[in-house]
Amino acid sequence: MANRKARPTLSPEICKGCGRCIDACAHHCIAAGTHVNPATGLVPVTLDLERCSACGLCLEACPEPYGLLPEGDEAAAEPTGQKRPPAVEDQPDTRVALPALRPLVVKGTYASAIGALLAGCRHFFGYPITPSTEGAELMAKLLPELDGHFVQAVSEVAAINMMYGCGGAGLRSLTFTSSPGFSLMLEGLSYMVGAEVPAVVVNVMRGGPGLGNIGPEQSDVKLACRGLGHGNTHAIVLAPATTQEMLDLTMLAFDLAFRYRNPVVVLADGYLGQMTGKVTLPDELVRPGLPGWAVHGDREHRPNLVSSIQLSEADLEAHNLRLIAKYERMARSEQRAELYEAADADVLLLACNTPARLAKGAVRALREAGVRAGLFRPVTLWPFPIDALRPLLRPGLRVVTVEASHGQIEDELRLALSHAGIAPPPLAHVRRYGGVLPKEEEIVSRVLGGPERGVA
Ligand code: SF4
Ligand code: SF4
Repeated sequence: MANRKARPTLSPEICKGCGRCIDACAHHCIAAGTHVNPATGLVPVTLDLERCSACGLCLEACPEPYGLLPEGDEAAAEPTGQKRPPAVEDQPDTRVALPALRPLVVKGTYASAIGALLAGCRHFFGYPITPSTEGAELMAKLLPELDGHFVQAVSEVAAINMMYGCGGAGLRSLTFTSSPGFSLMLEGLSYMVGAEVPAVVVNVMRGGPGLGNIGPEQSDVKLACRGLGHGNTHAIVLAPATTQEMLDLTMLAFDLAFRYRNPVVVLADGYLGQMTGKVTLPDELVRPGLPGWAVHGDREHRPNLVSSIQLSEADLEAHNLRLIAKYERMARSEQRAELYEAADADVLLLACNTPARLAKGAVRALREAGVRAGLFRPVTLWPFPIDALRPLLRPGLRVVTVEASHGQIEDELRLALSHAGIAPPPLAHVRRYGGVLPKEEEIVSRVLGGPERGVA
């Protein structure tokens, strides 16, 4: 709008209330607003042009391309009387081939950090917490070498809100945390789900409740799948079981976060975070594009607004309905599971993360003992992979959930069965707590009719 002498008209849905036009006007024609615009949650200025000399200085001062428009700009007019900015095209990701490299032998948090870097993540915000901290340390070492940014925030609350801002700008950000830190991030995650901001949270779960300990526990399944902050929230929850999957699923998490404009949670446990394993690097890395919706700071993206506020009840209900439709798309398209010896199983062990590794050993031992056992491993805990489970549920099948929590995974199974209208098969479980993992022999014993631990 520079150098255009004209009286201004205001675009209240674009004005961000910064006040620069107020300072620019020597005739005091522009005043700070007093009413929140329900469409944006911001407070636009008000105009009183009785003394306006059409000097155009306010038009020059406005940093928003369409915050103020020259009066009579016919080309700008739309039925609403306000010009809408043109939609900004998405700049797509590109993929760059990687040379063949020898496998790495690294711990799980390192594998996850490497996956994030290969997915094009160049921003890390976090607060150290065992047993996730080594991942953050590696990001702190590598990001400056890659023109990236590492910020150790004052708390997990600050870190997640930095991720909100970074994701709002259309950029990829990662945090490593563990159970108590994840609890602190939930409010921010709700804001990000509401504002449809992508980011990846790697939660290396530890023993709880409270401060608990730093042993491996699946203590946050219910938080990640059912309690992701206030409101009707969901995020895809990926549950790795190997060091390789710590890398692969972190890369996938970035793809899913930007595909759906939603945070994604990689839910690991203390063993997976600390365990060293062989990791094969992918064939290609990702050079991220830039989504058209992002508030990126350049002229084209300036009119965008990323916000979770919807002051009108009708608008907020409509927004919820849009989010729920998105959750349904995720639930249809993103279920993932690994099946091991499951096709002819009479007893199906259901486990994820490190307990799935122990359950796999139990399946082998049971098969050697003549028991047709199998393993069903949800790779996505939300959405629960009910479509892969359904064909296995033939009459006579028993299901034994194996987990390091008090039935948080079994609850996900029961909910998935209920939502799918499937009567639950006979269910038993092996559960350990407080950083103790289910042992292979106690899983075998339970399948063979042994008592539930702690039950006479
Ligand atoms: S055109 Fe000039 S006088 Fe009129 S409102 Fe803008 S700055 Fe004030
Ligand atoms: S300068 Fe533009 S964005 Fe800022 S208050 Fe004035 S009209 Fe609004």
